[in-house]
Amino acid sequence: MVSILNLETYAEENHIPIMEHEGIDYLTNYIKEHHLQSILEIGTAIGYSAIKMALINQDIKITTIERDLLRYQEAVKNIKKFKLEPQITLIYGDAFDVSLNQQYDLIFIDAAKSQYIRFFEKFESNLKLNGVIIADNLNFHGLVASDQTNLSANVRGLVRNLKKYIKFLENHPRFKTEFFHIADGISVSIKVRSD
Ligand code: SAM
Repeated sequence: MVSILNLETYAEENHIPIMEHEGIDYLTNYIKEHHLQSILEIGTAIGYSAIKMALINQDIKITTIERDLLRYQEAVKNIKKFKLEPQITLIYGDAFDVSLNQQYDLIFIDAAKSQYIRFFEKFESNLKLNGVIIADNLNFHGLVASDQTNLSANVRGLVRNLKKYIKFLENHPRFKTEFFHIADGISVSIKVRSD
């Protein structure tokens, strides 16, 4: 038997980043309240967030993409242990190489932080009208709002890209976005126009 706690322990012991409790609770409550059923996730890791979303109810179907082979294989095992294969489709590969025809109620972006705008633009056409794109880690452990001088060039670059994503959302003509200081910072962008 495997439990959610086992996944959390495995992630911690193996330094695999998964959603914080506050963030995953927000996400699963949002899905419940808005009766969302079709979900695309970018960044599976070991399947923790996909499993939490699928456990909400059996009508929820998730497609999730992971480019790291070991994490993907771990996710395959975990989803099998939870008997969630009928609800979760795993895709191994770089999200930028994946083409999907389906339209989703929710796209959850939880992959490389420097690429959020590119993920958004690549998959926007896979979102239904009034669907929502949610992204995590927008505060990047408080660094987005902090003094940048003592950060490494790499981290400064990530923070710069996250700030660009925030501006991109604020000015997007087809999306209405709200930002929440929940967990590590979450954006909720609703597609209000599709033209
Ligand atoms: N959503 C997961 C959870 O909470 O259980 C955590 C995902 S983890 C923060 C981010 C994952 O995105 C990593 O495992 C990484 O390998 C994957 N990733 C990053 N860039 C990617 C890309 N371009 N395509 C597919 N996966 C990507």
